[in-house]
Amino acid sequence: MASVTLKNVVKRFGSTTAVNDLSIDIQDKEFAVLVGSSGCGKTTALRMIAGLESATSGDIYIGDTRVNDLEAKDRDIAMVFQNYALYPHMNVRDNMGFGLRIREFTKAEIDARVEEAADILGIRDLLERKPKELSGGQRQRVAVGRAIVRKPKVFLFDEPLSNLDAKLRVAMRAEISKLHRRLEATIIYVTHDQVEAMTMADRIFIMSQGVLQQSGAPMEVYARPVNRFVAGFIGSPAMNFVDAALTAENGGLCVDAGGFKVRMPQAFEAALAPYAGKTVVFGVRPEDIALAEPGAADGRSITARAEVVETLGSEMFVHLSCGAHNLVARLEMPDRLPSVGETLNMALKMPKTHVFDKETQRAIV
Ligand code: ATP
Repeated sequence: MASVTLKNVVKRFGSTTAVNDLSIDIQDKEFAVLVGSSGCGKTTALRMIAGLESATSGDIYIGDTRVNDLEAKDRDIAMVFQNYALYPHMNVRDNMGFGLRIREFTKAEIDARVEEAADILGIRDLLERKPKELSGGQRQRVAVGRAIVRKPKVFLFDEPLSNLDAKLRVAMRAEISKLHRRLEATIIYVTHDQVEAMTMADRIFIMSQGVLQQSGAPMEVYARPVNRFVAGFIGSPAMNFVDAALTAENGGLCVDAGGFKVRMPQAFEAALAPYAGKTVVFGVRPEDIALAEPGAADGRSITARAEVVETLGSEMFVHLSCGAHNLVARLEMPDRLPSVGETLNMALKMPKTHVFDKETQRAIV
């Protein structure tokens, strides 16, 4: 297995800069997820690591070897694509062994590796079937098996679960995590789905418009997003954002959004002080808004009207209006459901709130 390092990598397609000055350092045996919305450059980054695209500038290393000038077949990586691209006329055994056959492995070695991979993936009984005789999830396993038999230094996954239905995606997510532990492999996984990134990654790399925005452990990125883009991208339902004035009151700082006013925790004051009197962007996650006792004047309570109540069984999302602002709250199911039009008292978990610079969009706290 090996580390993967990108240093100042740029990829241009004509006037489009798909990847802009990307520097990342993926450790040996790490599960790294590149995540971002469509067109952010994540697939291009993966294809450059694979050797399927050349970098316009910058350096790519696998282990200590600079691989920019190495052909894909010489990079010792295996890629699993979104469309599994299995050969329809070959059975599972031959599909899995194909890459080894063209590399002139002996039949005995191919059989041994295919059967070992089939055991790991629980598809031993499917080896003689053709792809059309398999379910989507089984085909996905064969595509992963084809990568495993190569025993590569690095596995690259490009949106491997997006053709599967929601339930199967959840199951395959857990399987790929287990596989990572079992193979002790370096995995670089590309997805637009922040839930996949949060649940599987050792480290997430969030991209937007070709630029790396933030990297870190999933919970670190969730708790301390560096800018508004990351804050809005990670977490579902997305963080609520409200333009508000930061005002100095009674020796403290308040966020005054017009429809509501809350007091910032003392721990935030030093960082926020230069913004007193200015407009900032206040951010609160839906899960950091709770139902509260009426009339509390504790600097964290707001009064809001329930506009839409969505029940999901174990929890509910309440769409609130508060003056000119709309907020979503994610709540445990209470004994009595709020009704539409009802006025609710809500409390914000202030130490978990965020404030962003309105101009630069960077997180202040
Ligand atoms: P998606 O999830 O939709 O695949 P992505 O984040 O993987 O998106 P890329 O496929 O890396 O994004 O594309 C990044 C940008 O580069 C996009 O603007 C895309 O249109 C452009 N691009 C990608 N490949 C090419 C190409 N071969 N020729 C021209 N432009 C390209």
